[in-house]
Amino acid sequence: MEYNIALIPGDGIGPEIVAEAVKVLDAVAEKYGHTFNYKKFLMGGCSIDVYGESLTDETLEEIKTYDSVLLGAVGGNVGHSNWYEIEPSKRPEAGLLKIRKGLGLFTNMRPALLYDELSGACPIKSELTEGGFDFVIMRELTGGLYFGDRYTKTIDGLRTAVDTLSYNEEEIRRIAKWAFEIARKRGKKVTSVDKANVLDSSRLWREVVHEVHADYQDVELEDMLVDNCAMQIVRDPKQFDVILTENMFGDILSDEASMVTGSIGMLSSASLGATKLGLYEPSHGSAPDIAGKNIANPLATIASAALMLKYSFDMEEESKAIEDAISQVLKDGYRTVDIYTEGTKKTSTTEMGDLVVERLK
Ligand code: NAD
Repeated sequence: MEYNIALIPGDGIGPEIVAEAVKVLDAVAEKYGHTFNYKKFLMGGCSIDVYGESLTDETLEEIKTYDSVLLGAVGGNVGHSNWYEIEPSKRPEAGLLKIRKGLGLFTNMRPALLYDELSGACPIKSELTEGGFDFVIMRELTGGLYFGDRYTKTIDGLRTAVDTLSYNEEEIRRIAKWAFEIARKRGKKVTSVDKANVLDSSRLWREVVHEVHADYQDVELEDMLVDNCAMQIVRDPKQFDVILTENMFGDILSDEASMVTGSIGMLSSASLGATKLGLYEPSHGSAPDIAGKNIANPLATIASAALMLKYSFDMEEESKAIEDAISQVLKDGYRTVDIYTEGTKKTSTTEMGDLVVERLK
């Protein structure tokens, strides 16, 4: 198979971690007889330095012609205060919103994966997480409270603020389909999270998710109220496979979920839309404090590349090979500084990439 991948290294540690993910993708291509063609694009502060804005329309249009996108991270103002002295719509992080919107990416998927070897970093009692856990949060990205009408005005002499939470059935249906599709490739269970005991938008959410479920009878569906879900994630994270939820609930729950894995340098993510073109990136930022030191953990970016193979290119075996290689490197005791503990082997960014590649071969 041959695919064209747009690379957006971005700022800070972005170029270092994306380079390691490319090494791993090249090893996969060689082993399985695929061809991956890459082109690098500017987004973030590095684009501001050249074009005066985070993502130009021309760059976005060209990226749309690619099969998938691998992103490092953007932003960080160490030594680059000019990135933040321009109008907000041109600043580094504005590129993220622009590319998600431009590519029509309405779903964000964040895996919460605790490797057994890193269980010491998990703040939950070890007896609740023995053997690790592995679930994903599918968050609706372009609707709900963050996109509804809002205003603040004085009513009856009191300052009053209003935010509107609205969803139509199509917005719910398209993400529900993704959740069931992804569950089919994983543990075949979807937990749909809402607040249907209070909110109309949640009652519609629940109704439409059940309608979509009719086409996915091989996948188990359960409903859970968001307050209960927040509790269950720390009480028994092993019960989940795919958590499907709307924008604001997902914003909060996905941060909770990343906290329980204990290590930000390990968390991948995928943003998906109506087509196979997805945007894959680590969940962390550009870590300007450690940029250029060859110490950043590239595993979240490498795991994001594995997600790309699975969900954009339908390469399940190749994706699993990367995930197994990451697991093996951890089992063999190699750690970048962020996950280093005494008795393990301290490893640089480039060495970590090489170690994953060695285990893939
Ligand atoms: P951050 O995630 O960049 O860093 C938080 C802490 O985690 C830092 O101490 C950093 O050194 C460490 N860290 C993060 N990733 C690591 C890795 N792979 N290996 C080792 N350590 C790692 O968050 P921040 O400091 O709040 O943000 C820095 C910049 O990144 C800001 O400009 C922010 O807006 C931007 N940001 C970008 C994205 C994105 O591009 N998607 C996401 C979040 C933040």
